Formats: sequence, structure tokens, C-alpha cells
Amino acid sequence: MTSNNPQTREWQALSNDHHLAPFSDFKQLKEKGPRIITSAKGVYLWDSEGNKILDGMAGLWCVAIGYGRDELADAASKQMRELPYYNLFFQTAHPPVLELAKVIADVAPEGMNHVFFTGSGSEGNDTMLRMVRHYWAIKGQPKKKVIISRKNGYHGSTVAGASLGGMTYMHEQGDLPIPGIVHIAQPYWFGEGGDMTSNEFGIWAANQLEEKILEVGVDNVGAFIAEPIQGAGGVIIPPDSYWPRIKEILAKYDILFVADEVICGFGRTGEWFGTDFYDLKPHMMTIAKGLTSGYIPMGGLIVHDDVVEVLNEGGDFNHGFTYSGHPVAAAVALENIRILRDEKIVERVRTETAPYLQKRLRELSDHPLVGEVRGVGLLGAIELVQDKATRKRYEGKGVGMICRTFCFENGLIMRAVGDTMIIAPPLVITPAEIDELVTKARKCLDLTLSALQG
Ligand SMILES: *Cc1c(COP(=O)(O)O)cnc(C)c1O
Repeated sequence: MTSNNPQTREWQALSNDHHLAPFSDFKQLKEKGPRIITSAKGVYLWDSEGNKILDGMAGLWCVAIGYGRDELADAASKQMRELPYYNLFFQTAHPPVLELAKVIADVAPEGMNHVFFTGSGSEGNDTMLRMVRHYWAIKGQPKKKVIISRKNGYHGSTVAGASLGGMTYMHEQGDLPIPGIVHIAQPYWFGEGGDMTSNEFGIWAANQLEEKILEVGVDNVGAFIAEPIQGAGGVIIPPDSYWPRIKEILAKYDILFVADEVICGFGRTGEWFGTDFYDLKPHMMTIAKGLTSGYIPMGGLIVHDDVVEVLNEGGDFNHGFTYSGHPVAAAVALENIRILRDEKIVERVRTETAPYLQKRLRELSDHPLVGEVRGVGLLGAIELVQDKATRKRYEGKGVGMICRTFCFENGLIMRAVGDTMIIAPPLVITPAEIDELVTKARKCLDLTLSALQG
């Protein structure tokens, strides 16, 4: 705790004395003290020391329309005054949730016309697990319970979410995964492709799904869940061969396909959903994050008509949350989607800012530390290596964390996943702000290289 600012020191003391932070080493955080973020506008954050920081991660991938949009605050305030809360249990509803379900159906792929609302992405995936099993039970196939997921995928942090996810460091705490969830390899060519070409590896990774279905038995498999692009795992863009082969396998076996759209949804790829980008045709899509641009918590599950038809015959679905479809969250989501549509933000990502970001980001490929630059839409990853040709890493040096710290100190937020630096800026980022992001990223790569050599 080195700040000279008494206000910063006071907040850090409160953190020490009272706060347990998510995904943090509690003791280490006490020693260092958290950085205190106090305000934000557009793509920029300000901390309690007065530093201005370009947020290359849109918070946690969520602040699609940028910070500081008064329209969302006004929508929340108006809804709080009119109807701050009512639930959707026991055959009641309220206007904002109904209007929101309709607007989501408008932007969702064809046939995806119903939404079950939750408070978060994790709850969306818990809902998925229960709905998939309920669906198969109604169809007289109650044994079809197993969900196939992928190593290093991220599906949230509730017990079901963390089990569906493939993060071993999460599984280790709390005896996860729960029964009935199995994992296959991820399509991470740079990290795991070995001597295969990217497309050979894509086919190999996709074939793991078929092998797993046959191993578990198709009569026992309920669904396959995957992110169109793995986000938290390190912005893993599947080889071109991957999704077409997965689609062939899914067509061959009678199982449901769930796309976890929590990151890719609402414009991140330049299409409304990652499934539009890859033409995936899922039965269910988990949503959260960009749904409200993170201004207020909300998630959900979009369900295909074919599935709803079966669920309609199943009597009560004994599942729901106190805050399912919360009216204030629904009002904020409606205003967020209105802005995304009226300001043609998704179109602008597709035609202007995504191509520009991808072009500028790839210029970093010439840097001696950089083994690969990849990205789609406004998602990007930079692999840090010791040897470009062999993709050999700087073992045990924590290069990603070194780089991340330099970024923070130089007014840029990039996240480190191991030695992979990742970005996902707000969808409203301008070309000039992209220039600033790439210039700062190069500077931090230089600083990281010097630190490794020094
Ligand atoms: C963030 C995330 C989740 C979990 O969402 P929460 O709102 O944090 O529960 C689920 N899936 C993906 C792909 C995510 O990125």
C-alpha cells in the first residue's frame, strides 16, 4: 500500500478489513491493496490516483456500449419509480420483461424465440443443465443426462457453471465437476496443435466430440455446450475446419447443442451472436454480459421453438430465481439493445472497427516476444513466447503478469491468461482509440522484453 493519496489508502484499508474479492489471493491482495476504480466514460476508466486508463477489456467483456450512457441510468430510474420489483413466478409478468423477450427474439437467430431470464451467465448455464434434463425426461429418455463440455472452456462460477467449465484450477476447489459432466479437448491450435496444421488439428479436436459421444453412449448424452470463441480461456479462435466438423457430428447424433454466447453475444464478433458468425444453429444460447452492457446484472437462456414445443408438454418447470427477469434490469437491457440497434453499433464493428483493430493488432506480430496474434471482431489475443519458430514459452517467468502490470502502469488494461494477452474493448471504440491501444500495447511488449533481458 504505497499510495500517497489518503483517500486511496482509506479505501484499501476497507478492502483489507472487510472485503473478500472474487478470483483473488486474499493474502496477496492485502499486501498490495486493490487499485480503486472510481469513474468511467466511453472506453476510459479513472482510478483513485487520477490515472486515466484505456479499458481494453470492456470491464469483464461486458461494457458493449461504453461507460457513462445516461440513457441507461434514466431507464433504470424511471423503472424503479414505476415498478421496482415484481416476480415472474406463479403466472404473473410485467411489461419490461415481455418487451425484452420480444426484442431479444428479434435479434436472435431464426427459430430462437423464447427467453428464460436469470441474474447472470452462470445461472443461465445452471438453467440450461436443468432444462436439458427436463427436456429429455419429457421425451421419455430420462437417461440422456450427460453434458459434454470442453477443457479450458468457461461457463461461470456456480457449482454447475464451474463444472461445465473446463478450468482445472476451479475444479480442484470443491470436488468438481459434479457427476454427469465430461470434457473434451479444446481447439487451441497455438498451444496444443503440435506438428499438425491448424486445419488438421481442428478436425482432430472436433472428432473428440464424436469419440466422447460413443464412449458415454448416445443414449446417455443430453447436450454439448461450447463458446463459439473461448473467451476466458484465452480468446481461442477455432481453426476454420472445427465448427463445420462439429456440426456434422451434431447432425449425426440426437443431442442438443448449447452455444454459450455470454461473451460473443450482442455484437462482439460483428454479428449479433457468435452463432451467426459461424452459422451454428444451436438449440439454446446462454446470454449475459453484453445484454445490459454490464450496467446491471442480468443473464438468460434463449431457447429454440423445437425445444419449447417439447417443454410445453412437460408441466411445471420447477426452476427460477427471485430476480429472474428483474424489471429494472429488463428496462436497462431494453435501452442497451435500443442503443446497439439505433446507433448501428454491431454494423460498425463488422464493417469498420473490427477490420481496423485486427489489421493494427497483427502489426504486433513482428515483435520479438510475439508468437501469434489472432482475433475475430473486437476480440484479440497476443501469444508471448521465447522462440517464435518453436512456440516455446518463457517457462516459469510469469511473462503474462509482467506484461499486464506494465499495461496497467501505462494506462491500458489487457488481461493475461497465462502468457496470452487478451483484449475485448467496448464495441464503441473508435479507430483513434484503437491506435492508442495498439501503441500502448507495443510499448508494454517492449518494456516486458527489456525486463526479461535485464
Ligand atoms: C462470464 C461468463 C459466464 C458467467 O457469467 P456470470 O455472469 O459471471 O455468471 C458464462 N459463460 C461465459 C462464456 C462467460 O464468459
